[in-house]
Amino acid sequence: MSFLDKHPPSERLSQFASDNTSGICPEALEAMTEANLGFSTPYGDDRWTQKASDALREVFETDCEIFFCFNGTAANGLALSQLCHSYQGVIAHPVSHIQNDECGAPAFYSQGLSLLLGTGKNGKLSVDAVDSICSNALPLHAPQPKAISLTQSTELGTCYTTNELGQLSEAAKRNQLAFHIDGARFSNACAALGRSPKNLTHDLGVDVLSLGGTKNGLGLGEAVVFFTKGLALGFEYRCKQAGQLASKMRYLTAPWVKMLQEDAWLKHARHANQMAQLLEERLSALPSFRLIRAREVNSVFYEIDRRVLEQLRKKGLVAHEFVEGGVRLMCSWQTTPDDIQLLVEEAQQATKA
Ligand SMILES: *Cc1c(COP(=O)(O)O)cnc(C)c1O
Repeated sequence: MSFLDKHPPSERLSQFASDNTSGICPEALEAMTEANLGFSTPYGDDRWTQKASDALREVFETDCEIFFCFNGTAANGLALSQLCHSYQGVIAHPVSHIQNDECGAPAFYSQGLSLLLGTGKNGKLSVDAVDSICSNALPLHAPQPKAISLTQSTELGTCYTTNELGQLSEAAKRNQLAFHIDGARFSNACAALGRSPKNLTHDLGVDVLSLGGTKNGLGLGEAVVFFTKGLALGFEYRCKQAGQLASKMRYLTAPWVKMLQEDAWLKHARHANQMAQLLEERLSALPSFRLIRAREVNSVFYEIDRRVLEQLRKKGLVAHEFVEGGVRLMCSWQTTPDDIQLLVEEAQQATKA
């Protein structure tokens, strides 16, 4: 069987739907195989989990509290429920995963918290929105803002700069709000901004980060990182109650060890970003593709001629439409220049047809 039989063009085209269409990266898979030798204590009381936590402390250059979850919805929902009572609120952008893609999980885990939506350009929450939500929350009668939650990088493929994060951090302090980041694609932001994990988090007053592993190259798993350690009190019980304490925890944590120790997290994020850059360069040359906003990370947003898009979809392309306009094409650690060549050739043909 040839390589192409195993991976037909239609399947290769379908990958651009998201970065979670990718498989497990070699480092993570190798670590799982190693962790599979012999026996181990369950529920996280094992050397892999210890090593993964230490490696995270090293990468973030601080002593922080770390927990591992199966997915990002749980990481976000549990982190936010730790920050808020059921009668309080979290300020977030309307185009955020917690608002649109988690089926109300933050409210579910906290038994009632409200998401208080504030606007801002390019998928980023603005300082004005934070201040106005705080000053307009009617005491006693409305849920009182207790935290802000930003997405880095955002759902629109943009990054908060250190300047913007600093200003939002000040707004959070001024209004006595905890500061959470949904970092499902945090590694892509680090790679794009050329900033260290520390620079983009606790240097700027971030209290808690939901750190993505899955889209970065793990098979599954995200970490919840508390930089403000006092806020983590009892969090392990919350994880356990929510069904997020893995019995064979080592399979969730071993991949992080290699991913972090060998800088694979950054290498894979950089690669995904670079592939998206290549995709942008090639597709922007075609008249049927109009770039919607400047590419920053591993996603590119295009308005594509209806007929061309339909043609490409027939060939296997999966491209999600966004309410803000256009479709999103996304690259991962696994995307190759050949995959991009394939898409570009199909796009050229569809444009000519
Ligand atoms: C993918 C993603 C998550 C996590 O989603 P799960 O499917 O629950 O793992 C969280 N936030 C953002 C911005 C995401 O893109």
